[in-house]
Amino acid sequence: MEYIASRADRMNTVGEMAASVAHEIRNPLTTVRGYLQLLLSKKEFDRYRDNFELMIDELDRTNTIIREYLCLAKDKRADLKICSLNKIIESLFPLIQADAVASKIAVSLDLSEIPELQLDENEIRQLLLNLVRNGLEAMPSGGCLNIRTFWDNDKAVLSVSDHGPGMPEYIFNNLGTPFLTTKDNGTGLGLPMCYRIANRHQADIDVKTSESGTTFYIRFNHPLASN
Ligand code: ADP
Ligand code: MG
Repeated sequence: MEYIASRADRMNTVGEMAASVAHEIRNPLTTVRGYLQLLLSKKEFDRYRDNFELMIDELDRTNTIIREYLCLAKDKRADLKICSLNKIIESLFPLIQADAVASKIAVSLDLSEIPELQLDENEIRQLLLNLVRNGLEAMPSGGCLNIRTFWDNDKAVLSVSDHGPGMPEYIFNNLGTPFLTTKDNGTGLGLPMCYRIANRHQADIDVKTSESGTTFYIRFNHPLASN
């Protein structure tokens, strides 16, 4: 019998186990969240409202960390299908709009005609939501967020721009490194997840940042291009 496993094999098993544990933890979390919400709606608990809300926020944060971690898990493959990037963006717009209104931010959509692409719809939604959330978080006192699609140099491009203060140089130089965050409540997993998703789509990410704002560009190959 052969007992020798390579380091890569062992790491992979650990990664897979961690991913399945993370997955299993989400179910009880959902149950706890549901009961907290139920208690929150009862009059007799009114004076504990702040505490309940805090608990729910913390559960949501835990869920976000698990979701981002799962997305980073190495063995996952993108489920690529030919579809319309513009349609995915449009379907997310109400959600984005709701977040933006709460942060006093106006969102503009500027979608050009681009060919359909090979995309994993769920992953593209997560990528866009992460870029949008970062954009909103960069403008705490309000402003404008612009989401565009356009065709440039044989690539379909998605861009998300904000008018926030830009990012510090050490972040810019280490974009995509896990756990790097400048936010009190940040996970530092949002951008690593975006880079992982872009990588699975063979898309490139470019970033421009200055004191007057930040733009992320995701450049997708045309599905018929030979790469
Ligand atoms: P988190 O949002 O949890 O901090 P991310 O991986 O999404 O983690 O982002 C990492 C860091 O990159 C942020 O903490 C912030 O410093 C910087 N960053 C990302 N997007 C922007 C942006 N649009 N404007 C300014 N800084 C940004
Ligand atoms: Mg983020």
